[in-house]
Amino acid sequence: MKEVARQARAGGRIVGLVPTMGALHAGHTSLIVRAKRECSPVIASIFVNPKQFGPNEDFAKYPRTFESDCEKLKQAGVDALFAPEAAEVYPKSFSTYVHVEGLSERLEGRSRPGHFRGVTTVVMKLLQIVQPHRAYFGRKDAQQARLISQMARDLNLDSEIVVCPIVREPDGLALSSRNLYLNPEERKAATVLYQSLELAKKELEAGERDALHLQSGVRRKLASERLAVVDYVEIVNAEDFEPVARVSKAGYVLLAVFIGKTRLIDNLYLEPGSPGSDELAFHL
Ligand code: AMP
Repeated sequence: MKEVARQARAGGRIVGLVPTMGALHAGHTSLIVRAKRECSPVIASIFVNPKQFGPNEDFAKYPRTFESDCEKLKQAGVDALFAPEAAEVYPKSFSTYVHVEGLSERLEGRSRPGHFRGVTTVVMKLLQIVQPHRAYFGRKDAQQARLISQMARDLNLDSEIVVCPIVREPDGLALSSRNLYLNPEERKAATVLYQSLELAKKELEAGERDALHLQSGVRRKLASERLAVVDYVEIVNAEDFEPVARVSKAGYVLLAVFIGKTRLIDNLYLEPGSPGSDELAFHL
């Protein structure tokens, strides 16, 4: 992979990288489409990273659909696929980790101890191996994207981190490889994540800015679904993901919810308006 990437860069071309864990869906292909607009060649990676799964999480049963993934990548026009084995990525002697302090401990990090250390470590390795000009991530995993941007800045990486919008099913459910775990009843119930965020969006558009009020609306909606068990609902600023009391600048309404045994996350992005203005736009 290093040799392929080296040759690509030597030609003066703009190399794009789209890291994934496979089980590809339209959310992943949206990253590839964006990368194709801005880079050539576009390299995708598939690696189910054992280090970002906790001992009681779903590493063993995480969906692996390599053959159909390859087909999708070909159709999307990806130029190269990097799909290393775990033993190659983490040989027995492996002992160096990347940890982004603070941000890694909150929200997803609190619910999934060690998760982000695994994420930043593997993404650092991918960025080192491929050395892309640009690397593409989804806002579906907003905290992850923020952490990776922070790591790239702190460690003076040459790769630009590009964050792309969430792709959803027609009924609003954010695409996720873990949606494959849902049975038909759970799949129906899972739309409550989107519906609760849509409620917050409507209230924000009507001028509501009190975080507690917005949060309780979201919680009430989630509680109306029998199969939903809330892990967290938080309204945070976009910089360090600390909770805010009032919505006044860029941030997120973030949620993590169990539907049956499946843990799903989603968010509403509070996007800053033009520089100098207090205006916000709300993106699901
Ligand atoms: P994963 O394979 O789940 O690790 O995801 C690989 C990349 O795709 C990450 O940057 C995710 O944020 C992104 N991604 C996953 N689901 C979506 C989605 N529904 N919309 C946009 N990007 C997504």
